[in-house]
Amino acid sequence: MQVSIACTEQNLRSRSSEDRLCGPRPGPGGGNGGPVGGGHGNPPREGGSGPKARAALVPRPPAPAGSLRESTGRGTGMKYRNLGKSGLRVSCLGLGTWVTFGSQISDETAEDVLTVAYEHGVNLFDTAEVYAAGKAERTLGNILKSKGWRRSSYVITTKIFGGGQAETERGLSRKHIIEGLQGSLERLQLGYVDIVFANRSDPNSPMEEIVRAMTYVINQGLALYWGTSRWGAAEIMEAYSMARQFNLIPPVCEQAEHHLFQREKGEMQLPELYHKIGVGSVTWSPLACGLITSKYEGRVPETCRATIKGYQWLKDKVQSEGGKKQPQAKVMDLLPMAHQLGCTVAQLAIAWCLRSEGVSSVLLGVSSAAQLLEHLGALQVLSQLTPQTVMEIDGLLGNKPPSKK
Ligand code: NAP
Repeated sequence: MQVSIACTEQNLRSRSSEDRLCGPRPGPGGGNGGPVGGGHGNPPREGGSGPKARAALVPRPPAPAGSLRESTGRGTGMKYRNLGKSGLRVSCLGLGTWVTFGSQISDETAEDVLTVAYEHGVNLFDTAEVYAAGKAERTLGNILKSKGWRRSSYVITTKIFGGGQAETERGLSRKHIIEGLQGSLERLQLGYVDIVFANRSDPNSPMEEIVRAMTYVINQGLALYWGTSRWGAAEIMEAYSMARQFNLIPPVCEQAEHHLFQREKGEMQLPELYHKIGVGSVTWSPLACGLITSKYEGRVPETCRATIKGYQWLKDKVQSEGGKKQPQAKVMDLLPMAHQLGCTVAQLAIAWCLRSEGVSSVLLGVSSAAQLLEHLGALQVLSQLTPQTVMEIDGLLGNKPPSKK
């Protein structure tokens, strides 16, 4: 059974309006992989002869379609992957600002969190025009400005859909995509975002208009790439085909909910899109809003997301009979395995998300720097996730989507 915890339509309706607004590649001296084809990455010498030279002249086969070439940051151990099949290199762990920035946590804590992330090699920061009614973007922008990090050293992504109260201030019309993004840039105090996401599909806006507007904002230099968020596979395919048909710019990735209890799309649909059209995935809510930790065992702690105004649906979920059975009991079943691997359940859950095919980055949510430091430890757990361990997890959860032949 698939359990969408973070963003079911029902959850969205019951949230506060604020939140509804709401094979490795060897790099220069870095990388964790061996040479591919040409040996040590050197180009074949001209005029060479013999079988070795002939072999070197044979063009290298393209990397297998499924491989996201990963490199490792020096000093941080952070892994970097391509965003879909674009050339953009993003940290496999990104930091999100939903719920937390500009609302749940103080600006000081937000700065701590962002600093720890950046110093540990996280280069992808995700926000949205709707988060805390624009305050998340403002807080993120203020911190980036005060830190003075090189703009070229990080990737900012924002999402457009539900910026304001007026009918024209939401959705994916050309007007709102352009004006919404301009508003985001103003709050972020940036000249451009790296990726602008169309957050949710919009039945009121024709697909051609969306793709043309996204192409326009990229051509104007307001964004470098565009992606979709919570779109169906057929809609993404339609956007891609439309872009190809009219020589427009196609989306590079989809933002999708993916965690131990929400598997179908991430495991059945997105890998296929990645292989067929190169649209990668950035996944979110790896801990199902915090439920995949041991803190909700039989109680709701005093300070946590489930006690925030507007998140009664999460509290209800925790306290419901179904909720006790589905995430909580199963999370407890995972505890012994986490202990055996020497990690926490949260680290195990995040590492599990990272190993999914076609995933460029997993967006983390944290309400403290301590939580973030814990999550960064998931990188070490990743290498311990053998096929055997993954099979054991599948056995415990009993929710593996049927494999497609
Ligand atoms: P999540 O990992 O599912 O939940 C994060 C929350 O879990 C934290 O804020 C914290 O809340 C709790 N938590 C985290 N680590 C913990 C730990 N070690 N122990 C105990 N509790 C812990 O992620 P998310 O915040 O829902 O989503 C992450 C990001 O994905 C968002 O910020 C956003 O950028 C993106 N996102 C995108 C969409 C979309 O529509 N495209 C939708 C949702 C999210 P408390 O401490 O307050 O309990």
